Amino acid sequence: MILVTGGAGYIGAHANKELNLAGYETVVLDNMSYGHEDFLKWGEYENVDLDDLKSLRNVFSKYKIDAVMHFAAFTYVGESVEDPQKYYLNNLRNTLNLLQVMNEFEVKKLVFSSTCATYGNPMEIPLTESHPQNPINPYGKGKLMVEKILEDYNSAYNLRYVSLRYFNAAGADPEGDVGERHHPETHLIPLILDAASGKREDIKIFGTDYPTHDGTCIRDYIHVTDLADAHIKSLKYLENGKKSEIFNLGNGNGFSVKEVIENARKVTGRKIKATETDRRPGDPPILVGSSKKARKILKWQPKYDELTQIIKTAWEWHKKDNKKIGKKDL
Ligand code: UDP
Repeated sequence: MILVTGGAGYIGAHANKELNLAGYETVVLDNMSYGHEDFLKWGEYENVDLDDLKSLRNVFSKYKIDAVMHFAAFTYVGESVEDPQKYYLNNLRNTLNLLQVMNEFEVKKLVFSSTCATYGNPMEIPLTESHPQNPINPYGKGKLMVEKILEDYNSAYNLRYVSLRYFNAAGADPEGDVGERHHPETHLIPLILDAASGKREDIKIFGTDYPTHDGTCIRDYIHVTDLADAHIKSLKYLENGKKSEIFNLGNGNGFSVKEVIENARKVTGRKIKATETDRRPGDPPILVGSSKKARKILKWQPKYDELTQIIKTAWEWHKKDNKKIGKKDL
């Protein structure tokens, strides 16, 4: 049985689906603070908060857990700056709780959701795993602290782990079972699609004076199903007795905010009004990752390596989800 914390959230739900398709049994653990009931389509489910050690122990007693995929975390960078305590308690202390109970029950395999935000401002592009880590916000710092704690748990308790540093997760399950639904939504692609469907008047471009070819920020968008697949490959890697590792997960291609908007105009066939505004604090101009290591060691190969494919799946989900949750008909 694989424990999937945060399995009712965006990336966790996609991974939970792929795990079940690959023949694994799963139990999703989620406190539903940001999760969605209708994403609970596969495996077992336990409504437990990771701050509750007693309930957590009950879950480990009830199921024979072989490995853990740990997605549960808060992910709003801006909020982490305003309320670091909220982030350190949930993303750091609650992860320690999870590790403590894993230790008590002798669960020795973990796939951990880390982030490219642990690098901070890049000194060179593409970012490789050996690039110095100087995170510039509490979200990235907390994730880096967990990476460091995992090293110590590995040495002391033989906990083997794979830390996956995601670049910009995007897109949706091509079969439309799950997708991206954040409240509040802050991510570029879903906000562009809101503008395409008339749910929002426009998309704001945060900064046009960056040192990039068109002045807008460049990011590496990676399809959420490809991310899910990397988790399964990481689990199999650990099952094969391999040593702890850290991998970047990105496509290695950078797209500017303007390019993403233009691409979305083509995919949706809609007019999308874009309004240029000031920079958003804390945004590095370019984040593009090298995933050579994951390709080589995990034999991972992203299937959705074109932005158009990523936006297409996001658009299909957007239309379906808006109908389902009764928002403006598209
Ligand atoms: N962005 C933007 N307008 C928005 C939301 C995001 O211009 O309404 C930009 C943002 O500044 C960044 C890129 O789009 O350069 C991706 O932002 P997102 O929040 O999706 O992901 P992040 O890179 O922060 O993880």
